[in-house]
Amino acid sequence: MKDIVIIGAGYGGLRALEYLAKEKNFKITLIDKNPYHYMQTEAYGYIAGRFDISDIAIDLNSFVKGLGDNVSFIKDKAIKIDKEKQILTLQNQTIAFDYAIIAVGAQTNFFSFIKGAKEYTHGVKNIQRAFEFRQAFEKRLYLKLEEKKLHRNGDLHIAIAGAGLSGVEIAAEMAHTLKKYEKILSKESITLKISLIDAAKTILPGMDSYIINKTEQRLKNLGIQIYTNAFIQEIKERSIYFKDGTKVDFDFIIYTAGIKAAKFIQEIQTEKNNIEQIIPDEYLHLQGSENIFCIGDCTQIKSQEKLLPPTAQTAEKSAQYVAKAIIAKTKNKSYPIFKAKIDGYFVALGGNYAIGMLYEKIKVEGYLAYLLKKLITRVYRHGLEIKVNAGYKKR
Ligand SMILES: Cc1cc2nc3c(=O)[nH]c(=O)nc-3n(C[C@H](O)[C@H](O)[C@H](O)COP(=O)(O)OP(=O)(O)OC[C@H]3O[C@@H](n4cnc5c(N)ncnc54)[C@H](O)[C@@H]3O)c2cc1C
Repeated sequence: MKDIVIIGAGYGGLRALEYLAKEKNFKITLIDKNPYHYMQTEAYGYIAGRFDISDIAIDLNSFVKGLGDNVSFIKDKAIKIDKEKQILTLQNQTIAFDYAIIAVGAQTNFFSFIKGAKEYTHGVKNIQRAFEFRQAFEKRLYLKLEEKKLHRNGDLHIAIAGAGLSGVEIAAEMAHTLKKYEKILSKESITLKISLIDAAKTILPGMDSYIINKTEQRLKNLGIQIYTNAFIQEIKERSIYFKDGTKVDFDFIIYTAGIKAAKFIQEIQTEKNNIEQIIPDEYLHLQGSENIFCIGDCTQIKSQEKLLPPTAQTAEKSAQYVAKAIIAKTKNKSYPIFKAKIDGYFVALGGNYAIGMLYEKIKVEGYLAYLLKKLITRVYRHGLEIKVNAGYKKR
């Protein structure tokens, strides 16, 4: 029997678990500081009020029970990993392991050169912050309905700092939802404004120019004001200041300007990049420790010298590879170096509209792209739900 610990129950951790659980000679322990799996890719719909909490959270106890008796879940926070002794220290206990998979994901990067970013912004990197935003926002709308005055000339202005995938999706979904509110609650009662701000030359930096141009067009059609080349210097309670002296006022600000590896990674002495991600070897081992693997957002993942973006897809592909590598290792078989290709990606752009690129050349737009994106989420969620239902019955 081999003891395997998986630290982090995100997209990577769960995918690795599903693979490894089929091996009955493995005793697998899944660890997460939260009792739920957070479907971050759906956060844009949750904060805009389109999805509910049950659409973005999955109970880990039930999920794990649905997998088999060789799997268990511990809700605890990982603190330290001893590479030599192969012991993981949690806040409340220690666990010895034969193999470990580090899959703790990322946290928001509140760059130290942006004053006030942490204090005055809302976020979506964890459910608590997304929930707090949604509550505050709904309260403001409710007060408006009660005909209480908004603090400034009747506008409701949302600023989004960071125009990467998450910032763009949030801006589009909020704009779409707010347009619906305008129609139903009357334009006079609520005048809505959304600003999307990024320091890069374009929105969605690093993505294909087709995706960038089409997305920009859609955002403009939704009435979103886009600021690029905009270096945020300071955020105060109701205003954002750029380096060039521009000041933009807001009622709410959502910060999606960057990520860095989760805090747990700080405790590990190994080579890291400038956003604190682990730089593993080409087998995704923690360098020098062949029994410890690293996957997902907490890792800088390269395939054939090319950096892969920190997405759910990269997390799942690296997880699948690592699970297979562990199975091979226990059978004294060799395994190839990590290689993966991104199948494609979709950007949800408000309502039933999305845009996507498949296999680097097939372009999809509009309702079809929305249906495909929805299908991917449905399939992912359905797979988890089957296990949750089976586990729920056992409890
Ligand atoms: C708004 C938004 C939209 C996105 N949209 C897309 C999209 O459309 N497509 C896409 O592919 N990607 C998207 N992403 C990115 C995607 O969500 C991440 O790349 C993905 O979640 C990474 O998976 P992971 O398993 O590495 O980490 P995570 O999913 O973040 O999971 C990490 C887990 O580790 C746990 N953890 C952390 N520290 C500890 C600790 N010390 N002890 C115990 N547990 C710990 C956390 O609680 C968490 O459950 C989006 C992200 C956001 C925020």
